[in-house]
Amino acid sequence: MSNLMHGKTALILGVANKWSLAYAIGQAFAREGANLVITYQGERQKLTVEELAAELSPTARAIQCDVTKPDELASLVEALQPGPLDAVVHSIAFANREDLSRPFSETSRDGFVLALEVSAYSLVAVAKAMAPLMTGGGSVITLSYLGAVRVIPNYNVMGVAKAALEANVRYMAATLGPEGTRVNGISAGPIKTLAAAGIAGFSTMLKNFANAAPLRRNVTADEVGNVAAFLMSDWASAMTGEILYVDNGYSQVAAGMDDGGEKPKE
Ligand code: NAP
Repeated sequence: MSNLMHGKTALILGVANKWSLAYAIGQAFAREGANLVITYQGERQKLTVEELAAELSPTARAIQCDVTKPDELASLVEALQPGPLDAVVHSIAFANREDLSRPFSETSRDGFVLALEVSAYSLVAVAKAMAPLMTGGGSVITLSYLGAVRVIPNYNVMGVAKAALEANVRYMAATLGPEGTRVNGISAGPIKTLAAAGIAGFSTMLKNFANAAPLRRNVTADEVGNVAAFLMSDWASAMTGEILYVDNGYSQVAAGMDDGGEKPKE
C-alpha cells in the first residue's frame, strides 16, 4: 500500500458482484487508504453488496441508489452529509439485451433513450448531485469503452451512449473545473463481467483483443482499479477532461496490422 488516497472519502456506484469493475476499483481504493461508500441499484442486490462492502473494508457503507430515481440520489446526498466527498466513481451502464445483438439500425426509440439515460445522462445527474459535497477539490471518474469512437460488432446503442458519456466528461470537466473538481474517464479493454456478458459474441471479442493488443493479453479488473486510484490521487492533480485507455494498447493498432494479419504485397 502506498496510501495514495489516505484520508479521502470515495463514493463508488456500480458494484453488482465481485467481478464488477467497480469492486476492483473499491479494492484498489481500500488498499490506498480511502474511506468507502458503495451503492447498489435495488433491494435485490442489497445483501450481496452489503457483504462486498464488508469485505472491502470494515468501515465501508452500502447504500441503495438507482441513478434514474432523483429521490434516491437525494437520499444518497443526505446520507453523505456533511462531507467532504473526495472521489466519485460512476461505473454504470445498461442497454436492452436485444439492442446488443440485432442490427444497430433496428434500435428502438425506447431502447435508445433507456441506454442513454442510464449509461450517459446519469453521470451528469450524479456529478451535479455530489458537487456541493466535493468542497476540497474532488475527482470524478467514469468507465467507457472503445465502442465510443469505433464501430464494435454488437456494441451498438451502447457505443452511442459511451460517445455521449465521453463528451459528458469533457463538458463536466469544464463546468466543475473552476470549483477544483476534476472529471476523467477510463476506456477499459474488454473484461468478463455481468454487463459484458450481455454483449453477443463477447468471448470472441476477448480472444481477438488478446491476439491483436500490443501486450498480447487481456486487461484485468485490478489494472483498471490501479489507474482509477491514480486518477483519484493527487498525482493526477493536473488531469481533467481526459479519457485514459487501459487496454494493453489495443486502440493504437490498426485492424489487420498485428503479426497474424495479412502482409502487404511486394
Ligand atoms: P457490472 O458489474 O454489470 O456493472 C454494471 C453496473 O451498473 C451494475 O452494478 C448495475 O447494477 C449498474 N446499474 C445498471 N443500471 C443502474 C441504475 N439504473 N442505477 C444504478 N446502477 C445501475 O459490469 P462492469 O463491466 O463492471 O460495468 C461497469 C462499467 O464499466 C460500465 O459502464 C461498463 O460499460 C464499463 N466497461 C466495462 C467493460 C467490460 O468489458 N466489462 C469495458 C469497458 C467499460 P445491477 O447489476 O445491480 O443492475
